[in-house]
Amino acid sequence: MNEHDSERIAGLLEAEGLLSVSEESDADVIVLNTCCIRENADNKLYGTLGHLKTWKDSREGRQIVVAGCLSQKDKDVVQARAKWVDVVLGTHNVHRTAELLEHSRSNGPITEIYDEAVEDDHVLFPSALPARRETTYNAWVTIQIGCDNTCAYCIVPSVRGKEISRQPEDIVDEVRRLADLGVTEVTLLGQNVNSYGRDLTLAERQAGGDVRVRPLFADLLRNVGTVPGIKRVRYTSPHPKDMKSDVIAAMAETPSVCEHLHYPLQSGSDRVLALMHRGYTAQRYLERLAEARAAMPDIAITTDIIVGFPGETEEDFVRTLEVAAEANFDSTFTFIFSPRDGTEAATMTEHFVEPSVIADRFDRLRVVVERSALLLHEARAGRIEEIVVEGPNRKRDGHFTGRTRQNKLVHFASQQALRPGTYGTVEITRGAPHFLEGIFREVLAEPTHRVRIPVAVAGH
Ligand code: SAH
Ligand code: SF4
Repeated sequence: MNEHDSERIAGLLEAEGLLSVSEESDADVIVLNTCCIRENADNKLYGTLGHLKTWKDSREGRQIVVAGCLSQKDKDVVQARAKWVDVVLGTHNVHRTAELLEHSRSNGPITEIYDEAVEDDHVLFPSALPARRETTYNAWVTIQIGCDNTCAYCIVPSVRGKEISRQPEDIVDEVRRLADLGVTEVTLLGQNVNSYGRDLTLAERQAGGDVRVRPLFADLLRNVGTVPGIKRVRYTSPHPKDMKSDVIAAMAETPSVCEHLHYPLQSGSDRVLALMHRGYTAQRYLERLAEARAAMPDIAITTDIIVGFPGETEEDFVRTLEVAAEANFDSTFTFIFSPRDGTEAATMTEHFVEPSVIADRFDRLRVVVERSALLLHEARAGRIEEIVVEGPNRKRDGHFTGRTRQNKLVHFASQQALRPGTYGTVEITRGAPHFLEGIFREVLAEPTHRVRIPVAVAGH
């Protein structure tokens, strides 16, 4: 989500005539886009800003922008701690970047944070903004902003606001436009994509319309998935409590929707899941997973797991290991619980788990997941898989990297040079815990996107 926000800010500034440069020393404007979901981003930000003060002072007219959810959370703190920052933007103010830069040029530093996306009619749905896409054959498409859930550890609802779905026609239109530009793969983004559209149907109903209040995600998947030119559709993240059969059916029945489900478990212990307010049990999670596998036998499953949620006992953690083993994950993002100010879990200080215990659990979970991943990957050896080329492998001549439909990274040898965005087939020769290896077979489709000429030099 943050990377996509960065693309939007870059896109907006380019639309205003700014050029992107690769060296800090060539730049006139630096934008720091922050995230506060985990880690001690605060210290990193203020450390970086300290360093940028020298950068700013060494040339007249230089400007610094701080955007993202950390500035949303800290509001006025950023400029109080770093007076040399010119513009501070909240998560709902991205579209104002260029205007605020201009404004601060004559009027000095400015902070602009909206608490809700709907507070001001200036606020646009973010995806309506131009984006400077970092890669050209695939694109992120925001379908929903904010989150209405109350996971006890999570700061997203307070920094990204309430859940608002974008109109389905706007999303499909954007995907059509992207396809016209040669984009072949889209990833639909939202914090809880399964509830996409519930707010839209509710509003229609409240306005007197004869509609059933329901999520529209399954319909959206089908509509996006049939846009001509779109070969691969991905999405992230679904919430297990809202995962319904209609979404599984839409995935299975829409050929362009990839056989990959990122399905965040968080914990395998029902007691911890309840403390987290996740709204499902491990059994229910596994049942939905079995349903998805029955509909799409070759589906890859990845997940998010938090280790060391306050009060997590050895017994709770062993349940996580058991459920992870049973779920047979292809990979996990494992996070160490990080207390975020303002969340319920951050107040459970007397139940915080010792860092050494967390480190040990983190390793034990890694072993379990690497075991299932290795077996799943080894089982792919000998198969011919469709890949899209990401680029040359910088470390090995004659080698490239690509992604399968299951979102697996593949390192492969190829006699012919291949451009990013090329679709082809690779024979898989070996599986490792975090990637596959193979040999290139044949090109299925040349890239269709327009090649963007990188702009590297300032002042031209
Ligand atoms: N909306 C998505 C998740 C967004 S945050 C969902 O519900 O799945 C991405 C991941 O960061 C979460 O799945 C969670 O595993 C992790 N995370 C969020 N807050 C955290 C915290 N305070 N400490 C550790 N991990 C956290
Ligand atoms: Fe955070 Fe939960 Fe919302 Fe995901 S669903 S963004 S974890 S509150």
